[in-house]
Amino acid sequence: MIDVTEIFACEVFNDSVMRSKLPKATYKTLKETVNDGKPLSLETANVVASAMKDWALEKGATHFTHWFQPMTGITAEKHDSFISPSDDGRIIMEFSGKELIKGEPDASSFPSGGLRETCEARGYTAWDPTSYAFVKDGTLCIPTAFCSYGGEALDKKTPLLRAMETINTQAMRILRLFGNTTANHVYTSVGPEQEYFLVDKNLHDQRKDLIYTGRTLFGAKPPKGQELDDHYFGVIKPRVSEFMKELDTELWKLGVLSKTKHNEAAPAQHELAPIFTTGNIASDHNQLVMELLKKIAHKHDLVCLLHEKPFAGVNGSGKHDNWSLITDDGENLLNPGKTPHDNLQFLLFFCAVIKAVDEYQDLLRISIAGAGNDHRLGAHEAPPAIVSVFIGDQMQAVIDALEVDGDYTEKKREKMLTGAHVVPGFSKDTTDRNRTSPFAFTGNKFEFRMVGSSQSVAGPNTVLNTIVAEQLRCFANELEGAKDFKKCVVEIIQRTIRNHKRIVFNGNNYTEEWVKEAERRGLSNYKSTPEAIPHILDKKNVDVFTSHGVYSEAELRSRYEIYLENYAKTINIEARTMSDMIRKDIIPSVSEYIGILSDTAFSRKSILPDIDSIVEIELIKTLTELNSGLYMAVKELDEAIKGASKYKDDVEEYAKYYRNTVFAAMNKTREFADKLEENTASEYWPYPTYGDLLFSVD
Ligand code: ADP
Ligand code: MG
Repeated sequence: MIDVTEIFACEVFNDSVMRSKLPKATYKTLKETVNDGKPLSLETANVVASAMKDWALEKGATHFTHWFQPMTGITAEKHDSFISPSDDGRIIMEFSGKELIKGEPDASSFPSGGLRETCEARGYTAWDPTSYAFVKDGTLCIPTAFCSYGGEALDKKTPLLRAMETINTQAMRILRLFGNTTANHVYTSVGPEQEYFLVDKNLHDQRKDLIYTGRTLFGAKPPKGQELDDHYFGVIKPRVSEFMKELDTELWKLGVLSKTKHNEAAPAQHELAPIFTTGNIASDHNQLVMELLKKIAHKHDLVCLLHEKPFAGVNGSGKHDNWSLITDDGENLLNPGKTPHDNLQFLLFFCAVIKAVDEYQDLLRISIAGAGNDHRLGAHEAPPAIVSVFIGDQMQAVIDALEVDGDYTEKKREKMLTGAHVVPGFSKDTTDRNRTSPFAFTGNKFEFRMVGSSQSVAGPNTVLNTIVAEQLRCFANELEGAKDFKKCVVEIIQRTIRNHKRIVFNGNNYTEEWVKEAERRGLSNYKSTPEAIPHILDKKNVDVFTSHGVYSEAELRSRYEIYLENYAKTINIEARTMSDMIRKDIIPSVSEYIGILSDTAFSRKSILPDIDSIVEIELIKTLTELNSGLYMAVKELDEAIKGASKYKDDVEEYAKYYRNTVFAAMNKTREFADKLEENTASEYWPYPTYGDLLFSVD
């Protein structure tokens, strides 16, 4: 039995450790840096570094690393040992304040989108004292921001920290206007729910597509999929349960508040949700979750697939980004309280979010764009690519009443009657869930549901914080000059509802009618990544980021480059893997099977000359036709891949070419392969099937 309270955060240099290990004055100075962003002197850094090192050595660490999040979307680390030679030919273990505060990894091989020439490789990592250091695999990991020599952000953390700063500033202005004198800081609270698949490692390793691309590029529909809904919340199988137990334990040791685990809708699909924490830490923790999911799966001879769409025809994986605003003294600013219609402060924050989502739908769409996520959005398993907000019946009634200045009569919270007397009664939630909405108000937080399972939540939260900060800034500007504060608040709320209600949609987002209705409302619908990304450079988007100091124009341009190039590269790898698998495995295997069928038919004919080998002959015909079709399709696919080089100089055209030509050719090719799989004897099919993969773990 493990004692969870004992192991929780045992590998983390957190507040309680700092308090016990640091001299009082140092602790106080460090807290001021963390809370108020005051600069840290080298002297203080030296003391912190030394205490950190001693603590890490006790934990068995030999190395330290600046742990950072380059634009690849995953984490990077370069390990240095603590050793330093001493005069007597031995070594001592050393770690200085300078080493804690700043690192200089060679940045030349990380994507920079033109922010840094390869000849100017210098990049800096800078300690982020707002996220605790921790020991992982014998290394002291120091969360850091990563930027270029010129100070431009080369990572996902820096813009997130900047965006958290701006939303703090603007939200504090509003709070002060409402007479709040006790709060000193507004944080974003974030709880990302993580979906993933687990498959048997042995089967996984037999498929090059899974190895190279993280998703299956072929696979006929298995006889059983998710139609019985018998996996969702089902009993967790023993092998998965063992895996989950170890995962929880390791996450707890790192201070990650892993809370909920359950089976998801698709076979072999699961979910992990932590308790929410501040945006920056939640984002770091989610990186650790993804890393440990993969690592611990391996120890159990499993592979964790984080790809958004590992299997066609089976639900893909997302990451619900639960988001709210919370003061340092614990007030959730999106909590409507008992009487939301009277709660002007809540309504103002609520309206800020509605207006932000409406005005910057495109930025939210862009923040979750990627080749993997393109498969999910609009595929009737995840929200469409159209951004809208679900607010539920109660809030709908509130804003309807406010808009026309009318009276709002509160619906009594109904008692939930289960019909079973032994079950204690409880009040129903004021609104049902709407699983189809991309952005839902769920009682006291918003839930952004378009995020892909493999994506860092830093990007989406950077956008969300910035666009909401922008609305709060406009509101604060107006309110600070108002003669009658309360009247002005009401006016802003009413105006916002009137002007932005088109973004509110409480119905089923999966229907064709909604797509038409959204178009009528003028909502944007960027179906693919290459369509969406270029809008990052639209004037209004550049303006909002630059004016809040979240991204400079050069940094945005670099994101534009990186995202589009990354899209093209991803499709390129997938297309080449597909071609390789077809030419080297599928076509030869099917040909061999055709040969066997022909031999059988031939020898039967010599024994039973009067009976036709109908089975063999029909199969040979079908397989030969399909195999020829596949061969022609893969030739076209290879031509399509070659054709891409023409567009190399224009990254937008390049990405669009991959979408419209290469990806289209892949889809055509796949059709032949999947039909072949349906008609080929199991022992001749070169790969484990969907059925094998999805039902492999017991
Ligand atoms: P669901 O029914 O969608 O699973 P839960 O209420 O269990 O919703 O919460 C899902 C996630 O939302 C959890 O990670 C939880 O910690 C997080 N969450 C709850 N309240 C907040 C909040 N105020 N701010 C941010 N995240 C929150
Ligand atoms: Mg949820």
